[in-house]
Amino acid sequence: APLIRIEHVSKHYLRGGEAVPVLADVHFDIARGEYLALMGPSGSGKSTLLNLIAGLDQPSSGRIVVDDTDIAGMNERSLADWRAANIGFIFQFYNLMPVLSALENVELPLQLTRLSARERRERALTALSLVGLADRVKHTPRELSGGQLQRVAIARAIVSDPTLIVADEPTGDLDRKSAEEVLALLLRLNQSLGKTIIMVTHDQHAAQAARAVRHLDKGELSALV
Ligand code: ADP
Ligand code: ADP
Repeated sequence: APLIRIEHVSKHYLRGGEAVPVLADVHFDIARGEYLALMGPSGSGKSTLLNLIAGLDQPSSGRIVVDDTDIAGMNERSLADWRAANIGFIFQFYNLMPVLSALENVELPLQLTRLSARERRERALTALSLVGLADRVKHTPRELSGGQLQRVAIARAIVSDPTLIVADEPTGDLDRKSAEEVLALLLRLNQSLGKTIIMVTHDQHAAQAARAVRHLDKGELSALV
């Protein structure tokens, strides 16, 4: 069975009492181990679709089934627990806590687990080593470059060992060299660790690094490229 089934999903927002459609009957599967790039013009619904898949938002109609769980039917409390256990998030502007060190940022997702402080620290150190930042663990975000910040964010995204990684414009704030490093890392998470990755991107290089590309246009999905 596919990891994710997106079943006839539509989404609209209410604006001045009127329903503004954003996604129209989007229907497709994502296989376990897939590395998918979602492309399309600004405003075509990419972030909305990504947020629905990650359980940050609810569809207006349709179902989203991840690993046999219908996340469109869950209440906010259960959804928050489900996200913490199953999804790693990567954002364009990193979303790191400025007053915390790289290590403390990466430990954050483990705060609410039953792991001991020592175990949390070990896992965070392992994740930071994996992204090549073992020598930067005490640095705070303002002491790190953009590429390093995104690598810290990737370490934070994988520290809980989630099945699925969602990345919204992960190279959007980076120079070419840092972007290539981040893309190489994402590819390694996919190929070596078997993580399923869904990435929204405007970046042709980023899309080429993925295994499959889908385009959204005005809320409708193209065939698999
Ligand atoms: P992108 O994901 O393409 O980088 P954003 O998600 O920031 O861009 O916003 C895309 C469009 O959605 C923008 O036109 C923005 O004004 C609109 N938008 C985003 N969030 C909201 C919101 N909460 N209410 C109304 N419009 C929004
Ligand atoms: P993309 O990521 O492709 O740029 P988005 O998914 O951010 O597109 O936005 C798609 C459309 O949905 C845009 O027209 C945007 O204005 C609208 N939109 C997104 N979020 C909201 C929101 N919270 N409230 C109202 N409109 C929104």
